[in-house]
Amino acid sequence: MTASDPIDAARLNLLLNELRLPAIKHLWSAFTERADKEGWPAARLLSALAEHEIAEGGQRRIERHLAEARLPPGKTLAGFNFDAVPTISKARVMALVAGDSWLEAGANLILFGPPGGGKTHLAAAIGLGLIENGWRVLFTRTTDLVQKLQVARRELALEAAITRLDKYHLIILDDLAYVTKDQPETSVLFELISARYERRSIAITANQPFGDWNRIFPDPAMTLAAVDRLVHHSTILELNVESYRRREAIDQQRGPGRPASRATLKTQPD
Ligand code: ADP
Ligand code: MG
Repeated sequence: MTASDPIDAARLNLLLNELRLPAIKHLWSAFTERADKEGWPAARLLSALAEHEIAEGGQRRIERHLAEARLPPGKTLAGFNFDAVPTISKARVMALVAGDSWLEAGANLILFGPPGGGKTHLAAAIGLGLIENGWRVLFTRTTDLVQKLQVARRELALEAAITRLDKYHLIILDDLAYVTKDQPETSVLFELISARYERRSIAITANQPFGDWNRIFPDPAMTLAAVDRLVHHSTILELNVESYRRREAIDQQRGPGRPASRATLKTQPD
């Protein structure tokens, strides 16, 4: 067969479908035409097509991981004003986004701070950065996940449900402190924490420091054990700032030119 022999394009497309090579399917016609015209060696053509398939495959994978992560939209690191949170080092956060040093060890991340301080924004933005770096992340309100795990437990499938979550290198549990032991069986949360200990990472956002976590777990011993496992290998970020929402609202009232960080909030009504 010479370069000018016609090939069955429709059949080739079917074969490429079957092989799940969408990028090559999309590109082969233009690439082969160019290769013929420019006299590329066959190996160069093959390698160019393979490179494109890999690159697009990576992109598609990241898109899939973004969709499965259920991150709240629009919360990026670029949109996070680090100046408003002097306790947080931007360099430290950027190092977390690389992922390797802590996700590989199953270490954890804990974000404390008052409502409106930026915990959810920062946690989601870190999650987004990690996904862009190839990691798999799940963002969930803690109460939602607890409910799902309770259902699984009732169906005697808790262990399987927790194992399924292993595919996520990081689970972000937003608002841990909103879970209370009035919700039956918050011990599922403990089982999740235990199962992932030193294997898979958890990030937690919470309004309350550890001292108040007795409200969350069924008994003090379990609280202690949960806290112990969470903090053993962990980074703790404290966003001890006044509500960003409130500062923004106050700045708007005052008009432009006054940075949020200068707002004196103590005198402002809620
Ligand atoms: P928390 O989870 O601590 O209650 P959020 O992350 O929900 O707080 O922040 C409240 C709102 O303020 C969100 O819209 C968030 O995007 C915004 N926000 C908070 N902190 C910052 C910040 N440092 N830079 C930019 N936006 C912020
Ligand atoms: Mg929040």
